[in-house]
Amino acid sequence: MWQTGSHRQHQHQTPDPYTPASGSTELSINEYDLTLDYDVGLNRLKGQARLAGSALVDIEQLTLDLDRPIRVEEVLLWCAGTPVDVRSFRQRRGKLAITPSRDLKAGDSFRLSIRYRGKPRAGNGLWGDIGWEELADGALVAGQPTGAPSWFPCNDLPADKARYRISVTVESGYRVTCNGELVSHEDRRGRETWVFEQPEPMSTYLATVQIGRYECLDLPGDVPQSVVAPPSLADRARAALSRQDAMMTLFASRFGPYPFGRYTVVVTDDELEIPLEAQSVSVFGRNHLGPASASLVAHELAHQWFGNSVTAGKWRDIWLHEGFATYAEWMWAEAADGVSSDQRAAVDLEWLQHQRQDLQLADPGPAAMFDERVYRRGALTLHILRRSAGDGIFFELLQEWTQKYRHSCAGTRDFLDLADKAYASAGVSANGLLGPWLFEPSVPEVPFRA
Ligand SMILES: [Zn+2]
Repeated sequence: MWQTGSHRQHQHQTPDPYTPASGSTELSINEYDLTLDYDVGLNRLKGQARLAGSALVDIEQLTLDLDRPIRVEEVLLWCAGTPVDVRSFRQRRGKLAITPSRDLKAGDSFRLSIRYRGKPRAGNGLWGDIGWEELADGALVAGQPTGAPSWFPCNDLPADKARYRISVTVESGYRVTCNGELVSHEDRRGRETWVFEQPEPMSTYLATVQIGRYECLDLPGDVPQSVVAPPSLADRARAALSRQDAMMTLFASRFGPYPFGRYTVVVTDDELEIPLEAQSVSVFGRNHLGPASASLVAHELAHQWFGNSVTAGKWRDIWLHEGFATYAEWMWAEAADGVSSDQRAAVDLEWLQHQRQDLQLADPGPAAMFDERVYRRGALTLHILRRSAGDGIFFELLQEWTQKYRHSCAGTRDFLDLADKAYASAGVSANGLLGPWLFEPSVPEVPFRA
């Protein structure tokens, strides 16, 4: 039998060497209930975060991630349903350290209520601006990989997935989009409250808030889909997404059922450097609606399976997100435009051979996590596996992968183990075939004529 998400997440709980300051392995959070009040014009955020979790070891001090521009005003704690005095709480170097009047024992369940306020801002580091960002007239969250603590206190590890309820109150005239389903919307004297629920377990970096002068349009499809965009961009957005439901159908037939209840695409009035993925939501800039949009739309949609449902437990395995989403672009081009994946493979192979041969795909290092070579070599690696024994076994493997690790986390080793089992009957050693592609920096020979 397959392990459940909650069972699996604990075995992956060690801090990540790519983001050594993030997260704690002493506790696990299973629920975030965030009530936010945001002033768009002044970029002022007021929040109450209610967290439910459990202690994984005996704990003297509970530690969460929270960036300094946000100041905590009050912390309340309950352990196994009983209030526990908080002796002190302190914010230092992106951490919120909470000292209760008595230790928590391993296995204890706890609840926290944390009230906070501040002017959130994106952190600037190795990966550019990440976190809560002001737009010209609104806000967005770009969480990957360490942007979540810019707007809520959390245990910022991808492997510590939790369910979410996010309520955001803003002045009238704006529309708020968060992960999952909009469950209520109220208008009270010039301020509107938007409440979303995301019941499927979600990594912190995939939690999102999108605020703008947007309208919401439903798109056709069996999976509920909508686009949220400024009215002036609505027609262009609809045109750019006109094939999205066909992609949804293709990907569901190849990767297994779409893993969430809904898919929402947000188009910002601002230009964005790259589209952003969040759980059940993708975010495009107004500059992403051009003729090349189909591959971006396919890529972001595929992340719902590869990245958001099946999440790399460690950032070094980012190719499990980007290689797979890039390969989905190839698959769409093959189905829609007749561009064979062999042709794409030949182009990317030549490109890779002319790049520096110093990147290890399954451990590229934090600075190269989003290097284009991770994307293109990752896709090529999958294509080599596909070509080794035909489409049937390859797409069965992808479906087994998305089912076994659905709403959970996995690593490269897990993929190779599954592939080895799947390909044994075809006489192919997935480890032997893919090992050089994943673990050696030089670009290997392609075992077929690309
Ligand atoms: Zn991507």
